[in-house]
Amino acid sequence: MSPVSPVSRDRLHRLIAGERERYAAGHPASLALFRQAGHLLGRVPMTWMSKWSGGFPLYLDSAAGATVTDVDGRRYADFALGDTGAMAGHSAPAVTAAIRRRAEERGGLTAMLPTEDAEWVGAELARRFGLPLWSFSLSATDANRWAIRLARLVTGRGKILVFSYCYHGSVDETFVVLDDDGTVRSRPGNVGPAVDPASTTRVAHFNHLESVRAELAHGDVAVIVTEPAMTNIGIVLPEPGFLAGLRRLADEYRTLLLIDETHTLSAGPGGMTATEGLRPDLVVLGKAIGGGIPCGAYGITAELADRIAERVRSGAADIEDVGGVGGTLAGNALSTAAMRATLSQVLTEPAFRTMAELAGRYAAGVQASIDRHGLPWSVSRLGARAEYRFTSPAPRTGNLSAAAADPDLDEYLHLYLANRDVLLTPFHNMALMCPATEPADVDRHTDLFAEAVAQLLG
Ligand code: PMP
Repeated sequence: MSPVSPVSRDRLHRLIAGERERYAAGHPASLALFRQAGHLLGRVPMTWMSKWSGGFPLYLDSAAGATVTDVDGRRYADFALGDTGAMAGHSAPAVTAAIRRRAEERGGLTAMLPTEDAEWVGAELARRFGLPLWSFSLSATDANRWAIRLARLVTGRGKILVFSYCYHGSVDETFVVLDDDGTVRSRPGNVGPAVDPASTTRVAHFNHLESVRAELAHGDVAVIVTEPAMTNIGIVLPEPGFLAGLRRLADEYRTLLLIDETHTLSAGPGGMTATEGLRPDLVVLGKAIGGGIPCGAYGITAELADRIAERVRSGAADIEDVGGVGGTLAGNALSTAAMRATLSQVLTEPAFRTMAELAGRYAAGVQASIDRHGLPWSVSRLGARAEYRFTSPAPRTGNLSAAAADPDLDEYLHLYLANRDVLLTPFHNMALMCPATEPADVDRHTDLFAEAVAQLLG
């Protein structure tokens, strides 16, 4: 028996072996392309693509809305949605029309010149998130990096505070965890850190305000960087009062608060910043808001903008040339056209309502199976996103959620679903709804999940 009693490990391993065989046999064209790929590190265009279960990824042929078709001609209900990059649905018609207009009719994909779209997007993000000033990047990672630099600039403090098992993209300072005795450690697997992140970063437990206070009390933290709900170690929802408590502590210790809404945008048009009435100093966005075209953004308060301007005037910082905030293609005409189309026509208020309803239906379907078998598992939902975790109740810190990880169960469920034409996000058990997701897609997952669990329990 395993920690996720009453699942038998032997049975699970036998089931995985059967699903792997079925996966290889059912996707010969993908397997052949993978075997031919001799000039790619790890045989894939980006090394994390090896993370798909089954030993090789499916090769994309085409995608539309909530559906992906692979090179073997199989169509999938796609709940991975590019790990949020395709939250607007694959190639939403309004986005492709805007891209075509910019690329074919008007040209100038990246001319290092602004277009009127950028101001439209800035104004819309200001309306949604309550922060008046915005700047663009090509990824949420870069938006986080540049926002953190600005926070250090204005506070004159060197460190940031994050939560154990956070993920904010490949931002050096954030690859940290707390071990069992509360010591800050470089996250296992951290690739070639320039310095030990324990020297750049203070680390607290999510939902644990006392641990935050203890770290802020050192007086050297420029900015708290957090998702309003953790979404990259399963979903860890904030307990009542936690987010308001963070704001209070940030004020008390004169630390800035950065809310990373890259994934939690699933909560609604203005993310959890709007649903929870948060008052961040900085907000970071990415992925979803470009409808699939690379983009990122960070928003700041007027007060923070004044403080930045003061430091620039005094000659302490260069934000226009080689000072470390900015990228050549950031804010390009294509990304901003895609963001405008996505925000104005696709990820709208009514779309979020439908997506949240579907995620509710999805979570209820999973919960019904969990209840039927009395499994010690949980399912958490955040607007349009839902995720199951192999522990109950749902974990309240990153460490507790990490302890509930079960790579075998992940592999079994991912393969069971993929072999029957449903895709989940490879890094975890996340399912995201897009405006094109249909109730029938959700019900297919519910039925397959029930079948997979029944087979697991024998
Ligand atoms: N912030 C959060 C919360 C994320 O989940 C991610 C990526 N999963 C990022 C930032 C970085 O996004 P990107 O990889 O597009 O830079």
